[in-house]
Amino acid sequence: MSLAIHDTMARKKRAFVPADPKRVTMYVCGPTVYNYTHIGNARSAIVFDLLFRVLRHEFGDDCVVYARNFTDIDDKIIKASHESGTPIGEITTKFAKVYLDELAALNALKPTMTPLATEHIEEMVALVERLIEKDSAYAADGHVLFSVDSYADYGRLSGVDRDEMIAGARVEVAPYKKNPADFVLWKPSASDEPGWDSPWGRGRPGWHLECSVMIEKELGETIDIHCGGQDLRFPHHENEIAQSACAHDGAALARYWMHNGFLRMGTDKMSKSIGNVVLTHELLKEWPGEVIRWALLSAHYRQPLEWADALLEQSKRQLDRFYRLLEEVAGSDENPAPPESVVLALRDDLNTPEAFAGLHQLRDIAAQTDGDARRSAILRLRAAGQLLGFFHADPAEWFRGEAGDGPSAEEIDALLVQRAEARKAKDFATSDKIRDDLAAQGIMIEDGPDGATWRRE
Ligand code: AMP
Ligand code: ZN
Repeated sequence: MSLAIHDTMARKKRAFVPADPKRVTMYVCGPTVYNYTHIGNARSAIVFDLLFRVLRHEFGDDCVVYARNFTDIDDKIIKASHESGTPIGEITTKFAKVYLDELAALNALKPTMTPLATEHIEEMVALVERLIEKDSAYAADGHVLFSVDSYADYGRLSGVDRDEMIAGARVEVAPYKKNPADFVLWKPSASDEPGWDSPWGRGRPGWHLECSVMIEKELGETIDIHCGGQDLRFPHHENEIAQSACAHDGAALARYWMHNGFLRMGTDKMSKSIGNVVLTHELLKEWPGEVIRWALLSAHYRQPLEWADALLEQSKRQLDRFYRLLEEVAGSDENPAPPESVVLALRDDLNTPEAFAGLHQLRDIAAQTDGDARRSAILRLRAAGQLLGFFHADPAEWFRGEAGDGPSAEEIDALLVQRAEARKAKDFATSDKIRDDLAAQGIMIEDGPDGATWRRE
């Protein structure tokens, strides 16, 4: 079976056939960088990191081009800058770096490119001019607006009805709009706001415009897969589609659309506006990134995922069981192909629950065998896990883990030195006491030919 993905536009799973298998293109709408992101945002990034890995597996590492943008000009950023007195560039540089560091800690691969909105202003102005020429946009009151009436398919992706949308007041009504559903491509900047010169005066781009422009510039007019959270279907993706199609004489922006479901706290979406957020950088102080990644991928990406401490605890226990076996092949750089069971699950619209079940099965099989068969089963299990972005840690390091409330690694190492000295002096009462005290705190000492090692239980 070849790769199939659920296409939001078609509302069904479709076989994935790229336009050019030597250059498969994917784009993910990235974060607005003005503060710390939460674990719901991370879900989106990790799900599409998995997509990137699976595409690389299917088409070759050098044949997939993945762009994820940074929104570094936005009203929320301007507000944060005014409130804190920190220059905008300082805020966006800091939080873009935080974001990249967090995702690296979650074992996400770097996208091929991470373009910045502010580095594409010239192209944005050019695209707005093109849309005006084609009668898809109009200037009014220092603003330029996209005219949704110029695009017959507006609303097709999300299924949102235009009248309903206006009645629900989900669009901003403004006197300069011909149609209340028209959206901003360019808006004027006050003197204390960042702005760029344009044919419509000093101003800045609207949010939707940047993705259309960066996709065109970095990837091309029509890309293979466009991704984002399900809340972006309307209006953001609908607006991207309309802008790009009208600028490109009707050419589709993307051949497939993928949307991830929400991470929830109880029954609510995790979101800054509700205030029920768990920040990724806080969570990373308590849990290894791989545990968080495991928790994020434990549900199918289109299903809601309910966040809970119990999920993290369970993920840690499961990974511990894998790493116990992986210890037996630590240091080996043999890299067999991952077993079919896991590959097939991933080809089926990234079915991670089934892929996880496959990993558990492979572990059981490996644990029941001996000798060379056992070793090769563990290596295949490791390859399967690595396809999903797991099992990259050194097993010994894994079990040393984070100290939590217990003694730090340095404290334990110092105690082991004391214990070795006590044993040399034949002071076994002291050496046994050190071992027992550590055991009581869940730290197991193993004596080997090269001295003692330890691990957390
Ligand atoms: P935002 O900062 O709200 O624009 O979100 C950045 C990305 O994270 C978008 O792709 C959102 O769809 C996604 N996202 C935001 N909240 C959640 C959530 N609770 N669960 C899953 N994805 C989310
Ligand atoms: Zn976007």
